[in-house]
Amino acid sequence: MPEYPDPLEELDAGLAELDTAGLRRRRRIVTTPCRPDTRLADREDAVTAFCSNDYLGLAAEPALAAAAHQGIDRWGVGSGASHLVSGHYAAHEALETRLAAFVGMDDALYFSTGYMANIGVMPALVGRGDAIFADKVNHASLVDGALLSRAELIRYPHCDVQALAARLQASTAPRKLIVTDGVFSMDGDIAPLRELLALAEAHKTWLLVDDAHGFGVLGPQGRGSLTHFGLNSPRLIYMGTLGKAAGVSGAFIAGQRSVIDWLLNKTRSYIFTTGAPPLLADALLTAVDLIEHGDARRAHLQALIARFSAGLKLKRWQLLPSETPIQPVVIGDNHETLAVSRALDAEGLWVPAIRPPTVPKGAARLRIVLSAAHSEAQVDRLVATLLRLEGALA
Ligand SMILES: *Cc1c(COP(=O)(O)O)cnc(C)c1O
Repeated sequence: MPEYPDPLEELDAGLAELDTAGLRRRRRIVTTPCRPDTRLADREDAVTAFCSNDYLGLAAEPALAAAAHQGIDRWGVGSGASHLVSGHYAAHEALETRLAAFVGMDDALYFSTGYMANIGVMPALVGRGDAIFADKVNHASLVDGALLSRAELIRYPHCDVQALAARLQASTAPRKLIVTDGVFSMDGDIAPLRELLALAEAHKTWLLVDDAHGFGVLGPQGRGSLTHFGLNSPRLIYMGTLGKAAGVSGAFIAGQRSVIDWLLNKTRSYIFTTGAPPLLADALLTAVDLIEHGDARRAHLQALIARFSAGLKLKRWQLLPSETPIQPVVIGDNHETLAVSRALDAEGLWVPAIRPPTVPKGAARLRIVLSAAHSEAQVDRLVATLLRLEGALA
């Protein structure tokens, strides 16, 4: 019998390799609600967190908790079944109607998570023999959705509209789908959506925009990155997530009525899963109200972004150009990035080190995320500490 490696020993060796490469991931245990002033199980004092995607500070908002309480009183906890069987409640229906109108689309479909929306929608739209054109730094869930679809995955350099045009021109695939993050999750920049839509129109393809980081933040009343550019087209399929700026969890796809009807019939990650608890839809209806009336929160957030990027004049490290709450500082080396993250931690500032495969090799970074819940003083302290560490760790 041939000798096979013992899979258990293989895993142990693999974990040791991750350690050596500075790539071993560990979770920290949070003991307070999601807010900047955070307590962790592994330390006595509080830290100021710059890591959540709770851009508007809604995750611990009492009005959302109150809506969830009302929801639980009305519905209890579970939905009992998938949406197509008996798990589609009036709260879900009301949420879909509200979300569609809010982003200016005909109709919407509510998913339990953004990951599930992405891995389901792409296989429902394209398949074997078709082609998906994807920005090189798109979110992992979009890569997985493309792989599941079995369509050819053609990646174009980050935001390179000309390269995309050439690849579209060269393709003979009968069905094509262009897919992009609206705001790139690890870089913070905004996709050239106007140009991408023009290509989608010219080539009669879908343009799927994953607006996990734009919904609630960009555009009038936080209606998202399509409204930021004033775009509208039957070619557009919009995906927004509800666990970031909206402060709860879940996601939705919005588009033309026929698109949503098709997805309702064909999306396996929608069909073969239990509906999210209806109480979350109640909380989300309140979240959309708070987003719509959230200009003060967005103005404070924008002021913090401007303050941070104006103050952080780095020499060795690089602050990526970004007008969004995602403000990445690229350090490069995995170990140095970890060391900086640990040094910040020692100062009571929680900023995670983001390493490959989440970002390209050699581009490890601090992913600093600002929120309307931060104060100017908290942002100033982060800037001052980063500047000091850049000098001290040289
Ligand atoms: C967070 C995120 C997702 C996944 O959404 P979840 O609701 O957290 O599953 C998808 N796309 C992008 C760009 C994201 O940042």
